[in-house]
Amino acid sequence: MYRINEIFYSLQGEGYWTGTPVVFVRMSGCNLRCPFCDTDHVRFQEMDEAQIVSDILRIAPNCRRVCITGGEPSLQLDLPLSEALHRAGFRIHVETNGTRPLPEGIDWVTLSPKADVPDLVGNGTVVLEKADEIKVVYLGNDVERWARFPATWHFLQPCSCSNTRETVDYILSHPGWRLSLQTHKYLNIR
Ligand code: SF4
Repeated sequence: MYRINEIFYSLQGEGYWTGTPVVFVRMSGCNLRCPFCDTDHVRFQEMDEAQIVSDILRIAPNCRRVCITGGEPSLQLDLPLSEALHRAGFRIHVETNGTRPLPEGIDWVTLSPKADVPDLVGNGTVVLEKADEIKVVYLGNDVERWARFPATWHFLQPCSCSNTRETVDYILSHPGWRLSLQTHKYLNIR
């Protein structure tokens, strides 16, 4: 059984897939505590693979892209669940803090490292060795070690829409980065 916080259908708000429809499966619980975490991921309902797949199909019968997020999905996401999603025809995206390994066969990995977050509670050391995209929340610190992380896309994102100008200025002086905005917040959607 998996502890599922919520399943909902919306547009991806951040990173490479911004603006594309996706079913979000939010898993409950995280191994870190970031001071800016604005996600209510604590409450949960227990569901097995079949229940998760059937809930996704009921909510969004025509969408075949699912984003496993949290909380921290690597605490629960395993081969049986990813195989059940693939059997049902889904492409699997995962958003992770990178502190734990992921099962084989994930179609798109978004790494959002938290190792440099001031006042972080927990061990944010990243163990993943590559990702499709890395998305770093810009807190005014030196993020250049993440610019060298083996990922296809390197996104820098303002913290909760609060320091957009500083983030833009940083990218202008460090052109390896791309801007990611939390567009769902600007659009007032989930
Ligand atoms: S890693 Fe993500 S889910 Fe976990 S506390 Fe930090 S912001 Fe929240």
